[in-house]
Amino acid sequence: MRLKIAILAGDGIGPEVTNEAVNILKAVAEFGGHDFTFVPLLIGGVAITATGSPLPTATLDACLECDAALMGAVGDNKFNELTPDKRPEAGLLQIRQALGGFANLRPSIAFPALAINSPLRPEITEGVNILFVRELLGGLYFGSPRAWDKAKGEAWNTMRYNKAEVTRVARVAFELARKRSKKVTSVDKANVLEVSQLWRATVTEVAKDYPDVTLEHQLVDSMAMHLMNIPRNFDVVLTENLFGDILTDESAVITGSLGMLPSATLGGTVNLYEPVHGSAPDIAGTGKANPLGTILTAAMLLRHSANLEQDAAAIESAVNKVLAAGHRTADIARGNAAGQHLVSTSEMGKLVHQALAEIIDQRQSMHAV
Ligand code: NAD
Repeated sequence: MRLKIAILAGDGIGPEVTNEAVNILKAVAEFGGHDFTFVPLLIGGVAITATGSPLPTATLDACLECDAALMGAVGDNKFNELTPDKRPEAGLLQIRQALGGFANLRPSIAFPALAINSPLRPEITEGVNILFVRELLGGLYFGSPRAWDKAKGEAWNTMRYNKAEVTRVARVAFELARKRSKKVTSVDKANVLEVSQLWRATVTEVAKDYPDVTLEHQLVDSMAMHLMNIPRNFDVVLTENLFGDILTDESAVITGSLGMLPSATLGGTVNLYEPVHGSAPDIAGTGKANPLGTILTAAMLLRHSANLEQDAAAIESAVNKVLAAGHRTADIARGNAAGQHLVSTSEMGKLVHQALAEIIDQRQSMHAV
């Protein structure tokens, strides 16, 4: 398998966590005899320093020639005085738009070894593995008209979707559900909003093409409650932009740390993979950053851009194994709990590498038998 991957390390802890994820991808390439090329590109504050722009044309052009893009994070306090369109974060918004991905995937997984990190009781989080599919390019964040009429003291936004936008993201959710437990929960507010009625009717129509997948509908308010009460009931959760923004953050408490959360944005010219966290300037350069969110993001890249499901699953198992052995970066360590070993960013990366090597070794010797 040949794969050309744009590496957009960015600012703060971005380069530290990306470096560990790239090492894991290199290991997968080596073990599996794949040919992965990594193309380092500038984005965010480092790009402003080097070129004056948070997203240089050269970065975007090179990205568009790659099979996938892996991002670290952007954001640097030294640019706080710049207007929003010139700041590092503008680079992120611009690249997301330019690559055109409309389906944002965010898993919410309860890692058994981290059950204590969630404010929810372990019997509630046990076994939770939800995949959110959030529509990313439509809805309230993009709809027009929008304005703030200060003289009138009035402001308005528009939640707008058309059938084609709903259909394409629904298809992504149903396709993913086919590879998981064959269930989609679509979330809307169809008892009040016309746009949700269109959403519900369209998703129901798309479901007819997937008779092997069960579809259920939930209203967003009750869904917010169910996610905290009975998260195990859900597998693929499909929703629109605003509801997805809120529900995915709510569900982050199931995993327990920002540093553990991966994401993928599919459907554009080039799929974009990034951990959920930001550049964490408070811990940049201290070796305290948790690289697991970015390593799990690399697993998503292999799954969705290279169809290397076994390797993606092996990375996820390696992360579970390292956590089960008690290794913790500072963000996921809990007080003086017994059996924990505090490790740095690079030590965590090496531990995952080692666990991955063992898992792949076992897999290969099983095939040899
Ligand atoms: P943040 O996610 O960077 O940090 C929030 C808190 O979580 C901090 O205490 C940080 O130390 C901790 N944290 C985050 N990632 C961690 C990791 N991998 N390991 C251990 N701890 C981790 O959010 P913020 O502080 O609101 O923003 C900092 C900068 O990042 C800002 O400039 C912001 O605009 C930017 N930002 C970028 C992205 C992105 O690039 N996708 C996302 C969010 C924020």
